[in-house]
Amino acid sequence: MIKVCKFGGSSMADATQYKKVKDIIDRDPGRTVVVVSAAGKRFSQDHKITDLLYLCHAHLTYGVSCDSIYEMIRERYLSIRDDLGLTLDLEKDFDDLRAEMDAGISQDKLVSRGEYFSAKLMAAYLGYEFIDAEMWLRFKLDGSVDQEASYTALKHAAGSSKCVIPGFYGAMPDGHIRTMTRGGSDITGALAAAALDADVYENWTDVSGILMADPRIVKDAATINRVTYNELRELSYIGAQVLHEATIFPVREKNIPLNIRNTNDPDHPGTMIREAFEDEDVTKGNLITGIAGKKGFTIVTITKSGMSNEISSLRRILEIFEKYNVIISYAPSGIDCYSVVVENKLLEPARYQILADIQKEMKPDHIHVSENIAIVAVVGRKMVFRSGSSGKIFQALGENGVNIRMISQGPEELNIIIGVKEKDFNTAVSALYERFVQ
Ligand code: ASP
Repeated sequence: MIKVCKFGGSSMADATQYKKVKDIIDRDPGRTVVVVSAAGKRFSQDHKITDLLYLCHAHLTYGVSCDSIYEMIRERYLSIRDDLGLTLDLEKDFDDLRAEMDAGISQDKLVSRGEYFSAKLMAAYLGYEFIDAEMWLRFKLDGSVDQEASYTALKHAAGSSKCVIPGFYGAMPDGHIRTMTRGGSDITGALAAAALDADVYENWTDVSGILMADPRIVKDAATINRVTYNELRELSYIGAQVLHEATIFPVREKNIPLNIRNTNDPDHPGTMIREAFEDEDVTKGNLITGIAGKKGFTIVTITKSGMSNEISSLRRILEIFEKYNVIISYAPSGIDCYSVVVENKLLEPARYQILADIQKEMKPDHIHVSENIAIVAVVGRKMVFRSGSSGKIFQALGENGVNIRMISQGPEELNIIIGVKEKDFNTAVSALYERFVQ
């Protein structure tokens, strides 16, 4: 059994958190590969080391002294080391880094050092081998990850040893360090799990998994125990912030379950994400898996009598949005009527050109623009097996005075998407939660 465990910034923030990580690792002999983030915040006003490193580089770029920021970073890692009673010589590493900064260091190399120092410390503390990400995680020239080369290199480097790997960065073909986008350690963990054909990828963070609804709207929202990759995609597409977007692809490809866990509550089973849950009784339990949503949408509705009989009408409408680089979130249709749901921030820069083009190209009877729309997605793999799901959703909204402006159901009945006025957004989410979550 191999478990690849990734620990996020809050799990690496100080020595107390390191001790919790060690307890978690010691509880299960399968936890042999550990991927770590840079030290995160210890309290809400604190700074993330990665933010400080970016700041340091900005100072260097403008020729302003970064001494005090650099000292905060150095001090943070040295105090973790001392508090853990380790004797690792980090001073030398920091001196080398300082010399490199003075000589001109790339931004990627500098910001990658947060993960580097975290991993060095964690490896020493656990008594695991340190395997630098630059030794195995390879990028192609276009910046995408070279999965094949990376997987082979990690298998070779890790063998059957117990190791700690820094997240967030790898090496370009010429050996230069390249970082991922923010939160990228999630991806490193997923790549390591895929490379080593792990039995599970555990992503340890500071929440006990994914919640069934936004806790800012639904107080004490329950945790999702099980969610499929498809459901997760639906939930994160419309606003649920869980993992870095690109995390799931490597593990999904290899059918490796992904378990989100809480370092501060290690007994909680968290959320398990898999391709399918064959053993479950679809007629039992909550009908829905989760509710997600966000504000900031506009619905453009184009009506023209006879339009549904024209072969190219929908394509011509979609092409206008494509011309202005506006991604279409949903496109529900009626007879002689097409609606296009788009995010305001994408529509705004080209709004008037798009409307003018539609007018010119389609000569519609009517164009209607509904603004201030929020989208709510009710996601649940069990909906397809149970009759009356949509009816119950609409009833819950109707009873709470929420006027529905748009409805769209995914082809596999995995989700029901509802457009409501922004002012009704919180009421809609709360009403659905109350109705469906026991
Ligand atoms: N330390 C990086 C960040 O703050 C990467 C990570 O933690 O995943 O974005």
